[in-house]
Amino acid sequence: MYDIIILGSGPAGLTAGIYAVRAGRKTLLIGGIRWGGQLMLTTLVENFPGFPNGIQGPELMMNMKKQAERLGVEFLNTEFTQGDFSSRPFKITADGRVYEAKAVIIATGADSIWLNIPGEIQLRGKGVSTCAVCDAFFFRGKDTVVVGGGDSAMEEALVLAKVAKSVTIVHRRDSFRASKAMQDRVLKEPKIKVLWNKEVTKYLGTSHVTGVILKDTKTGKEEELKTDGVFVAIGHKPNTDKFKGIELDAKGYVARKEVNGEDGLLKYRSATSVPGVFVGGDVHDYRYKQAITAAGFGCIAALDADKWMEENK
Ligand code: NAP
Repeated sequence: MYDIIILGSGPAGLTAGIYAVRAGRKTLLIGGIRWGGQLMLTTLVENFPGFPNGIQGPELMMNMKKQAERLGVEFLNTEFTQGDFSSRPFKITADGRVYEAKAVIIATGADSIWLNIPGEIQLRGKGVSTCAVCDAFFFRGKDTVVVGGGDSAMEEALVLAKVAKSVTIVHRRDSFRASKAMQDRVLKEPKIKVLWNKEVTKYLGTSHVTGVILKDTKTGKEEELKTDGVFVAIGHKPNTDKFKGIELDAKGYVARKEVNGEDGLLKYRSATSVPGVFVGGDVHDYRYKQAITAAGFGCIAALDADKWMEENK
């Protein structure tokens, strides 16, 4: 029986682990076979405080894991197959075994949706990205493409427009899905151009992106567009499919609840629909999606879980 089981090994899960063991809680972190989350797929991270020269994403995650393990977090390098929150203690199944805990922190993250076209896997981190806030800096004075027509694509384009020479939004239809306010900002920005009714069907380049093949969705005609970088912004998928009994919001993310105490003041910021189950990181956050915010949310979830256990002995 563990005090706390943490599901997920990105910045949220590992930070939650560090705080949970330092609060004296016997903690198991089920990290998955591909542990470490989205930062394992990135290269240089320059916006995580504490590293004056930046740090490679995988190295940052390795450091967090070592820190959590040194402090006493038990780490299980396997996938959990089910989280059952219908009764206490909560039961998490992994590798055919059932692990029990008094409290659970869900930090399973969200995965970017990719285009799944030729060249994408090879060129990730070499001009293909899903995070302009993270990578725009590397495209100072360069030509860039953003794929998508939702709010994320608008936001990526606006971030890139601050540094890049040009931003071309490639959208598969003739109108955006994004909110009017975001569209207006994008359409007013002189550096941003929109190519309507086009899909990217292939990336060009070997060691770095040099261009893309575009296909007209109406005529089927193909053409080449030279670019130094492609930002794919076609949505995220939160990893929520293995939970039983946890309420999700309208977008399919874990619904985070704020619970006030009897004094009317905020008591738990990271609660879910099930008392004793808390949430942190991108699995509930479709807005900020940064390593540092995920770490912060993980910290909040661990502090909440600790307080909840204290009050529900
Ligand atoms: P989204 O709203 O689902 O938009 C995804 C966009 O990608 C759509 O335009 C879609 O085209 C396009 N797309 C999907 N699959 C594609 C594919 N295979 N090839 C080419 N294009 C594809 O996702 P999102 O923009 O990430 O936003 C998610 C949620 O977060 C939304 O509710 C959004 O409002 C919110 N959000 C808010 C903000 C903000 O308020 N600042 C910022 C970011 C996100 P179609 O339009 O043709 O379907």
